[in-house]
Amino acid sequence: MPIKNLNPNDLQQAEDWEGNNVAFLCPLCQKVFIVSDTRMHISPGGEKGYRKCPACGKSIGRVKGGRKSGGTASIEWENLP
Ligand SMILES: [Zn+2]
Repeated sequence: MPIKNLNPNDLQQAEDWEGNNVAFLCPLCQKVFIVSDTRMHISPGGEKGYRKCPACGKSIGRVKGGRKSGGTASIEWENLP
């Protein structure tokens, strides 16, 4: 699946990142959604900081750690046929 890693020092207009909270733009349906590196957003396997697009379910946002403390954030999405 294609993946985009956010650059904490060069966020795009449709992205935001404060602390361990990231706003992503779903590349497939254009929904904006928040992912936090907390237990609020957890994968079926127990990974913190994981959330599927709440609108289409076809992209996954991930965040680990904070923007100013070496954290990482990425969004991955299904390839369309
Ligand atoms: Zn979506």
